[in-house]
Amino acid sequence: MNLHEYQAKSILSDFGVTVQRGIVATTPEEAVEAAKKLTEETGTGWHIVKAQIHAGGRGKGGGVKLAKNLQEVKDISNEIIGMNLVTPQTPKEGKKVHQVMIGEDVYYPGDNEPEEYYMSVLLNRNTGRTMIMYSPEGGMDIETVAEETPEKVFTEEIDPATGLLPFQARRIAFNLGLSGKAFKGMTKFVSQLYNAYEKSDSSLFEINPVLKASDDRIIAVDAKVTLDDSALYRHKDYAEMRDEREENPIEVEAGKAGLNYVDLDGNVGCMVNGAGLAMATMDLIKQAGGNPANFLDVGGTADAARVEKAFDLILQDENVEAILINIFGGIVRCDRVAQGVIDAYKNMGDRINVPIIVRLQGTNAEEAKKMIDESGLNVESAVAFQEAADKVQKVLS
Ligand code: GDP
Ligand code: MN
Repeated sequence: MNLHEYQAKSILSDFGVTVQRGIVATTPEEAVEAAKKLTEETGTGWHIVKAQIHAGGRGKGGGVKLAKNLQEVKDISNEIIGMNLVTPQTPKEGKKVHQVMIGEDVYYPGDNEPEEYYMSVLLNRNTGRTMIMYSPEGGMDIETVAEETPEKVFTEEIDPATGLLPFQARRIAFNLGLSGKAFKGMTKFVSQLYNAYEKSDSSLFEINPVLKASDDRIIAVDAKVTLDDSALYRHKDYAEMRDEREENPIEVEAGKAGLNYVDLDGNVGCMVNGAGLAMATMDLIKQAGGNPANFLDVGGTADAARVEKAFDLILQDENVEAILINIFGGIVRCDRVAQGVIDAYKNMGDRINVPIIVRLQGTNAEEAKKMIDESGLNVESAVAFQEAADKVQKVLS
């Protein structure tokens, strides 16, 4: 589950990580109140107005702007709230901004130039360990830095048995080129960040930029946090931070119906029981030259109601040109699933406007095939896995 920047920062702050202070606002008036409050608390005169959407690159798209007085806070908020923000990370059509975060300006003038670094904490799937990735080239697109100057991207891998060791935090501060107060500040920042990552059961932290302010304070200016969904039951307060407006509407609806659905780019809708079979089905569609439109595991009880819901979800995706149903009848018998498909099809009526290929294998597969073939519906049945994929390709070409 992804969070907004202001939510991510509140979690970081709870674990002692120094963050750019901010208050969320949904109207220009609230934004002005927030700015006044921040001035009282931090003494900041200037404020940064930041669009809150689940996508980065907001600065480039005009979603992050500096306000030098309260009138500007109001005007900029008025402009950003409700806007359709297009950034390199949003879908082409952009994302609607429902709220802004008013932040204290931390790029104030001082003895030194402020400097921006990149830092993320994530899982290295190859080693099964947490790693900290960081670079002195922050503030910009880290993918570009990694491509053009890979020597400027460092990683520190952490043994879960010992956690982050002091020498590792020092190595990070050293590689970032820090000394004195900023060096000490960075070692503390890194330890607190790692602790927050562990305790919050996150799967990704990305802080870009981490700022060395002109007074040498180390501050998280941006924060992207992805929480591990499987651990949300341990963090009821985090679970409440979910913003469904930011998520794929079909995936939200599927979640409520207890179906595992992941939206993909292709044109072949998939309805499968079991995650493993669903993955294999997607592979097979690819091999046959097609592209899966989704991952969908309907689970063990593929009755008419579930099959109908699955049809409903798949057909909401306008790219779908054919549907492949691939069910292995183990505990749930194939003839029951076939009946479910037939009933759901009849209930859906005209809404099913694409060809359907059904492959049922396992207990009572023969009866099931007979039922489908004799149903008089626009459904093709297949017995072998490959045969099903080939039939999908045939109806599409
Ligand atoms: P992103 O574009 O979505 O990654 O949003 P960020 O939170 O990273 O902000 C984009 C850029 O805005 C940062 O890299 C900074 O250069 C700038 N910025 C953020 N906060 C402040 C601030 O308080 N003052 C000033 N002057 N610039 C800021
Ligand atoms: Mn950023």
